[in-house]
Amino acid sequence: LDPNYEPSGNAEKDFERVLRPITLEDFAGQRVVTDNLRVFVEATLQREEALDHVLLHGPPGLGKTTLANIIANELNVSIRITSGPVLEKPADLAGLLTNLDEGDVLFIDEIHRLSPVVEEYLYSAMEDYKIDILIDSGPNARTVQIKLNPFTLIGATTRAGLLTAPLRARFGINSRLEYYDKELLSTIVKRSSQILNISITDEAAIEIAGRSRGTPRIVNALLRRVRDFAQIKGNGKIDLNITNVALSALNVDQYGLDEMDNRILSNIIDKFKGGPVGLSTIATAVGEQAGTIEEVYEPFLIKEGFIMRTPRGREVTEKAYKHLGRINHRNTGT
Ligand code: ADP
Repeated sequence: LDPNYEPSGNAEKDFERVLRPITLEDFAGQRVVTDNLRVFVEATLQREEALDHVLLHGPPGLGKTTLANIIANELNVSIRITSGPVLEKPADLAGLLTNLDEGDVLFIDEIHRLSPVVEEYLYSAMEDYKIDILIDSGPNARTVQIKLNPFTLIGATTRAGLLTAPLRARFGINSRLEYYDKELLSTIVKRSSQILNISITDEAAIEIAGRSRGTPRIVNALLRRVRDFAQIKGNGKIDLNITNVALSALNVDQYGLDEMDNRILSNIIDKFKGGPVGLSTIATAVGEQAGTIEEVYEPFLIKEGFIMRTPRGREVTEKAYKHLGRINHRNTGT
């Protein structure tokens, strides 16, 4: 499963909605982030102000949208949801901003994809809760400044590196989400199973967790697929046996690595003798942007010990050779 995978059909979207935690209490892991948020939310509630603007960044599927909804919920305010590419012109943004009630949350997903004019328009809204709007047209056209209700902008991005410095500076709270370990993911699988009324053994939950690329979205999607196998090829219950049957039928890698992960590793081995090799050279070889490799793929490969960052570039580890079934010639001296 691709980490960039987004639920497409309605059934899948409903599925994600049902499984989405709605309180900080329900949200597994990311303790550094959630502990801090709890303090900020509490302080905001006491002062009866709008929460500072929040930037959530990190790879896809780790819970940015979920957290944005949770924050609004914990603050007892409404949330409006939009995304960078949808906001084509300042008027699109003005429409949303002027409809916010005091303290509401505006969530902008993929905020790195805002057009420069829209982004600039956002600055005064974020800073002074003011925007200029154009009224009338032709010779009577003029701009008037209007005051907005104090609100909280929550921006989410997988590519924090693409954010401009002025935008980044306007977020008072900046949190990075990290990949989840196997134990946490298995608690998420068990929670999801309970909500969906699926019976699953501990071993099966751990197995699914270990093959989910550290990502809650993937763990839930795999659970859904394994459930189908259990229903059709088993007795409806998910145990280790049916899990292994399902995951091998689905071609899910032992570590949950996806096609791009494997392509990055095999390219470094085959074309660059295992490295060290520069990031931009790898990017060209696999046909992906260097920034995306650096912010989306590489962190997981490093965390799992497939790649090392050295001063001279990226190097694959012995684990990568083993995983791909290749021989490390440098080690064998041939
Ligand atoms: P992102 O916005 O970072 O791409 P989402 O917030 O859409 O990710 O999360 C994807 C799915 O993963 C959600 O439907 C949610 O059910 C699940 N999820 C994410 N984080 C958690 C978590 N910490 N605990 C439980 N489920 C989670």
